[in-house]
Amino acid sequence: MAGLSSISVTLKPLNRAFSSSNSRHNHTTSDAVFPPSLRFNGFKQRKILTVCFVVDDRKQSSPMDDRPESTSSSETLATSRRLQKAERKKSERFTYLIAAVMSSFGITSMAIMAVYYRFSWQMEGGQVPVSEMLGTFALSVGAAVGMEFWARWAHRALWHASLWNMHESHHKPREGAFELNDVFAIINAVPAIGLLYYGFFNKGLVSGLCFGAGLGITTFGIAYMFVHDGLVHKRFPVGPIADVPYFRKVAAAHQLHHTDKFKGVPYGLFLGPKEVEEVGGKEELEKEINRRIKLYNKSSTS
Ligand SMILES: [Zn+2]
Ligand SMILES: [Zn+2]
Repeated sequence: MAGLSSISVTLKPLNRAFSSSNSRHNHTTSDAVFPPSLRFNGFKQRKILTVCFVVDDRKQSSPMDDRPESTSSSETLATSRRLQKAERKKSERFTYLIAAVMSSFGITSMAIMAVYYRFSWQMEGGQVPVSEMLGTFALSVGAAVGMEFWARWAHRALWHASLWNMHESHHKPREGAFELNDVFAIINAVPAIGLLYYGFFNKGLVSGLCFGAGLGITTFGIAYMFVHDGLVHKRFPVGPIADVPYFRKVAAAHQLHHTDKFKGVPYGLFLGPKEVEEVGGKEELEKEINRRIKLYNKSSTS
């Protein structure tokens, strides 16, 4: 719920700031406009930055400022604090973006090289291991799909149950670039690394299948990071991913998980829209999608 409802709250004051740009006193309200609980997602950060810009602009365009000096200096202090905070949030987003891009780029290039070397090594004897190659491909797709179902089950039966202490950090406003919930990503990486390691250094169909499964889990992990952490929770900018209609639907469905409207459904991510529709949330999902499109258009024009 925090996500979308808070966004609509932040827009009103922003419009007010623009419409009353000749009033010298209105900008002091911007602190009240962004209560602490609403200051943590990326969208809001951008809004904070915009408001600060308006404040500065007004100051420059009001040379006849006759307010008492003390009021003016306390406002300057408040403004500089806000700017510092926005700057810190920006650098946190940048830190996560670097981590996301580096890890995706590193893992993807390693995976391509690994696939190439594994099969060129197998083909040294002259025979193309077609069945193994097909097995690797099939398992990489199968494991990626399987991960969606595993994540859905684990999210419902573990993260929102016995492991709530760790997952709770994801349902609260984030302090800093990372959250305790990120540990789950590392935990999921362990079997992927094991499967890739075994599959890479061994010959035969079984190791080919393991290699494929490792690739599939890794692919799912990267996609999850971009869509869940980047697109939905705005931990870093995702560029054209935000324009893909199905991903918009996925993002809206996951937002419903955070609002708890359907007892936490959807617990999965990529098949989340289907999960929501199955519990009768189709209308709510459409509303959420339209809300996101409006916000997206507003944020890209402001
Ligand atoms: Zn959750
Ligand atoms: Zn989430």
